[in-house]
Amino acid sequence: MKPSDFTPAVKMKSYACQRRTPLKHHNLFLTDALETLAQNAEFSENEGRSVAFRRSASVLKALPHVVRAMDELKDLPCLGEHSLRVIKEILEDGTSSEVESTRQSEQFQAMKALTGIFGVGVRTADRWFREGLRSPLDLIHTGQKLNHAQQAGVQYYKDLNTPVTKKEAVVISDIVEKTVKAVLPGAIITLTGGFRRGKEVGHDVDFLITHPEEGAEERLMPKIVNCLEDQGLLLYQKTTVNSYLESKDGPARPASNMDRFERCFSIFKLEVDSETHAEGSLSNSCSTHHSGSTWRAVRVDLVVSPYSQFAFATLGWTGSKLFERELRRWAGQEKAMSLSSHALYDSKQQRYLRANSEEEIFTHLGLEYIPPSERNA
Ligand code: ATP
Ligand code: MN
Ligand code: MN
Repeated sequence: MKPSDFTPAVKMKSYACQRRTPLKHHNLFLTDALETLAQNAEFSENEGRSVAFRRSASVLKALPHVVRAMDELKDLPCLGEHSLRVIKEILEDGTSSEVESTRQSEQFQAMKALTGIFGVGVRTADRWFREGLRSPLDLIHTGQKLNHAQQAGVQYYKDLNTPVTKKEAVVISDIVEKTVKAVLPGAIITLTGGFRRGKEVGHDVDFLITHPEEGAEERLMPKIVNCLEDQGLLLYQKTTVNSYLESKDGPARPASNMDRFERCFSIFKLEVDSETHAEGSLSNSCSTHHSGSTWRAVRVDLVVSPYSQFAFATLGWTGSKLFERELRRWAGQEKAMSLSSHALYDSKQQRYLRANSEEEIFTHLGLEYIPPSERNA
């Protein structure tokens, strides 16, 4: 077949939230390259450039075929000059020199290693890089001052950079479900994040918790955390209480893209079968747990939402990050609405639009419903 036989009959929509993006797609060789450049732009805090590369990659993820020639791209949205140049080089030479030199650069590798530590953002990693540090071990050797999160991040570095499997996520779901229901009978626990989108591995496990009786969920997180701690299940936790009620700015206009739910960023101590563990422990360089133990560290995010905001919270915590970003951009630019993980505000009608399900939110936004498994933008 000629490449043109694959040309999609329907014009690709320009917002990622208007398209279906499956988890497995046909252009990983191109999207990996573009996402490397996006990540590199994030390392230099160039958000505009980073989003541009991520949008380009996302368009290619939504294509139903492998890209083989430049003319297949001519009707596609979001592909800027720079992305097209990179794609062209890969189609012609098999690799892009810019992408390869980025991947090999000392700065990129160090920033990847340092931002790969839980609790370390781009700013901190960049400062350490400029001080000559390159890896978590360098932090230990030079006796860097670390906060609690970063100490845990270094201590469990190896484990936390080992992908969490779906199987492990299911085990953790059981634990969280039992614990939350013991603390608050009738509570509803939903697995969100990448696993809800059908991913087979993740960097953490994300949960959203609510209760049908509005208000029953207030101050729930500390009780959950206590219960988990009593069972010896937490290696680290940082709980943030809900600041939504106290805050003065409108619910759909948070100061940043951080929402204001009661939440807990944690590291679970997960029992593993000794067979699986034997392999992993050999190279567990930074972790202090010795080879006789049978557990590993896993990042878990817990979020508590009032029932009235549950649909918005579910949509907001399911991702992908680009899909979320595009939903908000669509709401603002195309609908004069403001979407957050708490609410949807219609500026024309000057009122909040209620929703009891994700489907209703898509309807309010004038979008076709996209199921979680196709939000892998
Ligand atoms: P991974 O498998 O790497 O964990 P993921 O899609 O689950 O992939 P997360 O970083 O766990 O990625 O984020 C899950 C969802 O939660 C995303 O949609 C993201 O927008 C949302 N999210 C993450 N952190 C915050 C935050 N601080 N405030 C609001 N939403 C957040
Ligand atoms: Mn996640
Ligand atoms: Mn998360």
